[in-house]
Amino acid sequence: MFRKIDHIGIAVPNLAEALRVYRDTLGFTVDHQQRVEDQQVTTAFIPVGGTHLELLEPTSPDSPIGKFLAKRGAGLHHVAIAVDDIEAAIRDYTSRGIRMIDPKPRLGAHGKKIAFVHPKSTGGILLELCETPEK
Ligand code: ZN
Repeated sequence: MFRKIDHIGIAVPNLAEALRVYRDTLGFTVDHQQRVEDQQVTTAFIPVGGTHLELLEPTSPDSPIGKFLAKRGAGLHHVAIAVDDIEAAIRDYTSRGIRMIDPKPRLGAHGKKIAFVHPKSTGGILLELCETPEK
């Protein structure tokens, strides 16, 4: 069911400033940038060893990332695991009493289906499940 760590999400207040740090100072490259309306974020993906860091800037202070930044400040936001079949994973988790933030998959960056598992069911980490569309 689990394939790999797909990406690690990092909340940033300002993507341009974050890119100056990650790209220009730390020496990473960026291979994809995208605004995801459904999540109210602008994202930039940094490839590292078969997985990615995902920088997330909120497009609105009322968005989940905007609220996270106001409460906790910039930093680690979520860990995303690639799964073969996200609907099956959600059904399995829900049937075992695991709390899903998204009871149905939503559309994430790269056209992936994504769903978040509540931190109360994971010991404190916001866990994202994601399924890459068939190519
Ligand atoms: Zn993510």
